[in-house]
Amino acid sequence: MYDLIIIGMGISGVSAGIYAHRAGLKVLILEGSTPGGTINGISKIENYPGISSISGPDLAYNLFAEINKLGIEYKLERVTDVILEKVKKIKTTNNVYEAQNLLIASGRRPKMLGLKNEEKFLGRGISTCALCDGALYKNSDVAVIGGGSSALSEALYLANIVNKVYLIHRREEFRGEDTLVRELKEKNNIELILNNEVTELKIENNVLKGIILKDGKVINVKGIFIYIGFIPNTDFLINTDIAMDNGYILVDEHHKTNIKGVYASGDVVKKDIYQIINAASEGAEAVVYMTSKIN
Ligand code: NAP
Repeated sequence: MYDLIIIGMGISGVSAGIYAHRAGLKVLILEGSTPGGTINGISKIENYPGISSISGPDLAYNLFAEINKLGIEYKLERVTDVILEKVKKIKTTNNVYEAQNLLIASGRRPKMLGLKNEEKFLGRGISTCALCDGALYKNSDVAVIGGGSSALSEALYLANIVNKVYLIHRREEFRGEDTLVRELKEKNNIELILNNEVTELKIENNVLKGIILKDGKVINVKGIFIYIGFIPNTDFLINTDIAMDNGYILVDEHHKTNIKGVYASGDVVKKDIYQIINAASEGAEAVVYMTSKIN
């Protein structure tokens, strides 16, 4: 029986793990994919205090190293189901674990466009990770889809590797940060295609050759990077009564859900700001509230 089980080893889960360890809780972190979570796909992080610049995978590595150094217990197993009674039962692909408290810090995954053949060409021309796949398109032309900070920052990253980046956004104005928009406009190998949408993939002889836009224009590219937002990782909560909004978990100011002993933090939570810094602070705060008299 654990005092606390944390689902997810992204920055929020790791921060919660560190605080739980320091509070003397018997804690277990469960991670079904890559330790570090979403930050593994970020090329450059330059807005975290004290770290002027670091790659996402390097920060993910540091987080994992810290968990190991502190001797915090973890299992690399995917959670498939949870039963949220007084004792929380967490089922994974391999085992069932029990805890008094649960913190859900399972993050979110990239959203796809929903085009015909999109899944088929994922990893064969379509990517959701410029950092992982950008080098495959050295000196080629690529397209980035989206208008948020992710699309902007990854288009900038790709522009340093590839020949040309077409940045395709469905509106006139970008949603992403102004500093990124300014940097983007200074790059001479990024072409902005605004007020347009991808409607079809251009495929020849089973090879992705480009995209076809709403206005019929054909853009010939070797790679397509999709950055159109995220879907929360809450599939394993299907048999629970946890309050959610569009799959995002609803919490109060103490990061408590509507179910006693169940907390949530980071990108899986319904909120206004999805930044690394608040994901980290929410994980820590959830544990402090859980262990303090405020609760
Ligand atoms: P986001 O802010 O939700 O932006 C998603 C973009 O994709 C929007 O421009 C949206 O268009 C577009 N989009 C959504 N569905 C689409 C579809 N079906 N077809 C075409 N376009 C579609 O997502 P994000 O850029 O991944 O950012 C997520 C969060 O992380 C944000 O809070 C952001 O601030 C944060 N972030 C911060 C940094 C940083 O601090 N430097 C870097 C990356 C991300 P509309 O605008 O028309 O809705």
